[in-house]
Amino acid sequence: MSLVIGCDLDGVIWRGSEVIPGSVEAIAQLQNDGAIVVFITNNSSTTPSQYVEKLAGFGITTTAEMIITSALAAAHLASEHLDAGSTVLACAGPGVVEALTERGFAVHNDGPADAVVVGWHQSFDFERLRIAADCARSGALFIATNDDPTYPGAAGSLLPGNGSLVAAVATASGCTPFVAGKPHEAMARLVRMKVGPAGIMVGDRVSTDGAFAARLGWPFGLVLSGIAGTDRGELVADSGAQWIANDLQTLVPLLLKSDPAVAGS
Ligand SMILES: [Mg+2]
Repeated sequence: MSLVIGCDLDGVIWRGSEVIPGSVEAIAQLQNDGAIVVFITNNSSTTPSQYVEKLAGFGITTTAEMIITSALAAAHLASEHLDAGSTVLACAGPGVVEALTERGFAVHNDGPADAVVVGWHQSFDFERLRIAADCARSGALFIATNDDPTYPGAAGSLLPGNGSLVAAVATASGCTPFVAGKPHEAMARLVRMKVGPAGIMVGDRVSTDGAFAARLGWPFGLVLSGIAGTDRGELVADSGAQWIANDLQTLVPLLLKSDPAVAGS
């Protein structure tokens, strides 16, 4: 069986629009070695085909099938609770709209609706907060694509993540969301469906990628090119990682040397 690598994007492959040096070569090394690389991201704003294009722009070859986003996990979660044709308010970006549409939901920009999905988007404002909170308070199924408080931007900056938007909607509505993305179960179900039960998770955030690896029962490779290990980021101690490396380029040779029994292949 091929080694399966679940690879996070933000903070592992890129920071914003800047590629992290060596990450493109590291993915090629994995693919040339026969590994199956599936990209697993909590960023819900972008569609899988847009991710394929962005990766191709940096020189990484993959297909939309190999991209698993928290938008897909949120739509999957919604479909477990609601019938196709149900109305969903998308307080989110194009990735969520496409994922919901593909599941047969009627996607709206205003309430009332059977569900409200909150995903990261830059046009979030007071009016969108008001509409989403009204919807949740009125009894709609409240789903958050993910609850990351921040994500890594260019030049070492930290930007507000979807957890910040979800917290506003939760506070204004008094409702608690179901969360779909890493490290939660909806995302884990999608990953198991797509690539099977065994693999290695690689990421830059202990609280999402590390916890997700633990949920999947996969070993965890932590890179320090994103959130973890920075002054403002998480502490690396107690990360639960089997491997810790400065970046993907340094990590990949360690993964390829790993004991197949550890990697679960
Ligand atoms: Mg990340």
